[in-house]
Amino acid sequence: MKKLVAALSVLVLLGVAFTGCSGKKASKVGTIGIAMPTKSSARWIADGSNMKAEFEKLGFQVDLQYAEDVVENQISQIENMITKGVNVLVIASIDGESMTKVLEKAHDAKIPVISYDRLIKNTPYVDYYVTFDNFKVGVQQATTIETALDLKNAAGPFYIELFGGSPDDNNAYFFYNGAMSVLQPYLDSGKLIVGSGQMGMDKVSTLRWDGATAQARMDNLLSAFYTKNKIAAVLSPYDGISLGIISSLKGVGYGQGGTPMPFVSGQDAELPSIKSILAGEQYSTIFKDTRSLAKKAVEMATALLAGKEADVNDTKTYDNGVKVVPSYLLESTIVTKDNVTSALVDTGYYTADQLK
Ligand code: BGC
Repeated sequence: MKKLVAALSVLVLLGVAFTGCSGKKASKVGTIGIAMPTKSSARWIADGSNMKAEFEKLGFQVDLQYAEDVVENQISQIENMITKGVNVLVIASIDGESMTKVLEKAHDAKIPVISYDRLIKNTPYVDYYVTFDNFKVGVQQATTIETALDLKNAAGPFYIELFGGSPDDNNAYFFYNGAMSVLQPYLDSGKLIVGSGQMGMDKVSTLRWDGATAQARMDNLLSAFYTKNKIAAVLSPYDGISLGIISSLKGVGYGQGGTPMPFVSGQDAELPSIKSILAGEQYSTIFKDTRSLAKKAVEMATALLAGKEADVNDTKTYDNGVKVVPSYLLESTIVTKDNVTSALVDTGYYTADQLK
């Protein structure tokens, strides 16, 4: 059935291309420009290659570019795609607020835009947004800490430190706010204490989600605020940040000789973090199936090219400053040591061998 639908949509698109309605490239189905932020995190490599494979199955050409977290590079990659005349742009932005001008050019060239995983802000020229329920991801991250410390029942107090994602990524605020919706009551009642007092995205964010930056901040926090008290948990928004935090903690003796490793959250189910979870170091991560995200983006692109409306399930949450972008939000899954196999191996995301 799926194959039939795919084949039919290719035929429809071919028809459109040959009759010239969609314009640019009469000889083929079309070209998709995919701009991804960086190869430094495995999830974006998977996102890019999953989409490329899905689009190619439908007969599209794909121009897939990574910008290694340099905003200017990403903008010039997108400019090139516009010049080459791609038929749709799919963009996971580095800085969600940096796209206003380049998307004006896309609009002038009549190229529709899909905002992928991260919301592109301050422009009317973004057609759809496909992502996960980012507030809920934050709730899930904090819930793992709530469960691990048994906050509902334990007396506490427990010391915690908070880390946020990159301040130029809209998702970072959703993750943080989602997490705080769970943690704030415990902070208010004194069951949880932020030893450093550092709270709020203006104090806890981590530019470009960089693990080394997080590690340096954790080093500072430990030496300034944890000479007497032990830290029990760290809210971390992303696996690469979690590993930086864990290195720092290990450096001062946590996880050894009777000093337990604090409960550290994460996100993306990246392999090094899954191995760390299995080894009893990182406590949790959030699995966001990039295969489903890629599929949804492909569906949106094909709908746009066929002049149809794409399937969305949220038309309220993601206001980009100019408009509320129609969105499709996918569900994410909490992963701890207990469900690594069912969440990640049984679903085919990793093989058992990869986890060894
Ligand atoms: C994504 C996360 C990812 C982070 C760092 C966010 O925009 O939603 O999945 O962990 O960027 O790459």
